[in-house]
Amino acid sequence: METITNNACTVYPISVPTKSSLHTFNFYLIEEEGSLSLVDAGVNSDKCWGYLLDTLKNHGFSLADLSRIIITHNHEDHVGLIDRIESEHDIPIYAPEKSIHRLKRDRNFFLMRIDFFKKLYYEMGCGLDGELQVQKLQDAIKGHERKKVQSDILRVDDNVLPGSQPIETPGHSPDHIVLLNKNRKWLFAGDHLIKHISSNALVEPDPNGKRLLTVLDYEDSLKKCLDLDVDVVFPGHGDLIHNHKDLVKKRLNGIERKADRLLSYFGLESDISTASELAKAVYKEKYESQFSLVMSEIIGHLDYLEEKGQIEKALKSGIWHYSV
Ligand SMILES: [Zn+2]
Repeated sequence: METITNNACTVYPISVPTKSSLHTFNFYLIEEEGSLSLVDAGVNSDKCWGYLLDTLKNHGFSLADLSRIIITHNHEDHVGLIDRIESEHDIPIYAPEKSIHRLKRDRNFFLMRIDFFKKLYYEMGCGLDGELQVQKLQDAIKGHERKKVQSDILRVDDNVLPGSQPIETPGHSPDHIVLLNKNRKWLFAGDHLIKHISSNALVEPDPNGKRLLTVLDYEDSLKKCLDLDVDVVFPGHGDLIHNHKDLVKKRLNGIERKADRLLSYFGLESDISTASELAKAVYKEKYESQFSLVMSEIIGHLDYLEEKGQIEKALKSGIWHYSV
């Protein structure tokens, strides 16, 4: 991925190939006004670490030149190298306020989150498949001490990156932000916009345990980006984006198309009424192999259809049944 310079500011992309459908893990060095910022921090792997050190070296820098780290959202493939960098060079880390309790693996929050998914999967008719997923979440808590970001984390504010302004873009994750540099028409997009795949809007609770309307949030956040005057989008995965308005429109259409497709499974002739039945019918074997992703897609879009008045639901014996 090429270096981009505009009016005394330079972006050095760090793009680490992966065999997964994400294609690459991207994070970015930004040199401006004598500072060197890192937007996102890759995966916690020797390969990613090597790419960071090589990129610094190839452009005449070292870790000691880094001024700050700013992250777009809490996912593991965006925060992986934070502690490794901090152990060699102590610099401020900025994250969206809603990321911090997740990055710090706040025990009470994660216990609440387990209860949230336990109830959710039960109510969506997932039965044993849901119980297995909840068990995985419970097991994951044991690894939290190792995975939590050890360093102090500061809240992102308007002045966090010289010349750039953070914009809240919940949907893919509740805490997600993008960073807009108006003068240079740049957007650091994290996972909000990716050229080759649509970002999953992952079902999550708010801090009070209430389900967020993630697909609607994602749609609103996409609309926020539609009117931005931007020439280059720097995404968290895949290639740079130069025609972001076309891509945003494609993603907005994609949400509607998927919702329409799911809606077509309901009707008088259909014996599908629960989210779990719908997920199995639509995603077949992926229902088991990618259970949490598939259920996020289904539940998020059912919420979307319900909010738009296209379906309704009724609780029968503790399980939601949807109908048109
Ligand atoms: Zn992500």
